[in-house]
Amino acid sequence: MTIQNLIRPSIKALKPYSSARDEFKGNTDNLTFLDANENPFENGVNRYPDPQQGKLKALISQIKDVPTENILLGNGSDEVLDLLIRMFCEPNKDNIIILPPTYGMYEVLANVNAVETIKINLSEDTFQPKKETILSKSNANSKILFLCSPNNPSGNSFEVSTIAFLLKNFKGIVVIDEAYIDFSKQESWLSRLNEFPNLVVTQTLSKAFGMAGIRLGMCFASAEIIATLNKIKPPYNINELTQAKAIEGLSKMTLINSQIASLLEQRDILVKALDEVRFIEKVYPSEANFVMVKVDDANKRYQQLIENGIVIRNRTTQPLCENCLRLSVGTKEENRRLVENLKKL
Ligand SMILES: *Cc1c(COP(=O)(O)O)cnc(C)c1O
Repeated sequence: MTIQNLIRPSIKALKPYSSARDEFKGNTDNLTFLDANENPFENGVNRYPDPQQGKLKALISQIKDVPTENILLGNGSDEVLDLLIRMFCEPNKDNIIILPPTYGMYEVLANVNAVETIKINLSEDTFQPKKETILSKSNANSKILFLCSPNNPSGNSFEVSTIAFLLKNFKGIVVIDEAYIDFSKQESWLSRLNEFPNLVVTQTLSKAFGMAGIRLGMCFASAEIIATLNKIKPPYNINELTQAKAIEGLSKMTLINSQIASLLEQRDILVKALDEVRFIEKVYPSEANFVMVKVDDANKRYQQLIENGIVIRNRTTQPLCENCLRLSVGTKEENRRLVENLKKL
């Protein structure tokens, strides 16, 4: 397997759009820019943003300890996931593999791109990937395997040995969606990028970093994969305001780390309290900033909570999640209100 053989022929042949900002690079001081048909009157956003997000990537590179040539940024992870599907999967021919219950966007994005989704449920008891079944059900057109670890909505991480086995044996790209990695005791797979040419790791500023509103997703992979993603991404996909706000937010790592620590503490307190709720039959172990619980009647409890002004996520229709609810960890006060309401239902 080579990466080049996995890329769609039309993408390999693609000559990318060359923007004004691509064609003139160099020291921008004291230059008169009349190349991009921008409005010249200064208002802070009248110029196109940096298409390669140099300053922001340098900061992410430093925080994550990954060279900038191995980083691509997207308008949320959702754009990153869409670009990956479009890079590798030929419409009406190729397929992706997902492991339900999991994040809903993988299948939606595949559907948008006319790419088939092969679903192989996680194991019923432990929510771990069934690695042999994944290999036996995949075929020559299976281009991407999506592993969400920690997994949404079950909250657990996948075993390191299982993921390593799949990286070695699956004959396509393995995307590890690490949206919740900062809440997990597991080490990120970023440190092993060099070991596996088919490994792609995605992360986001939407969860632990507290910036869901700016839409910034991160993709980490070999320089070869990143170079092709760069060819197909929209030229100015990360807007000026997002780049500026992300730089500002990421410069406050002490604050972010203390928020993560607080959420983990609150999660443990919440889990203990949920254990004592009469109609909660099971509290699933979580390595994320949410907790999945099995209740007596998910639809009924979901409705009752809404009547009390609390909105949670009902996952009862998902495979292996009958009567399961997903609860995000909030502030101490929000969690207290949730538990108080649950106890009086
Ligand atoms: C929340 C979440 C994301 C984040 O998506 P963004 O588009 O970056 O906000 C990605 N993957 C999973 C599994 C998630 O739960």
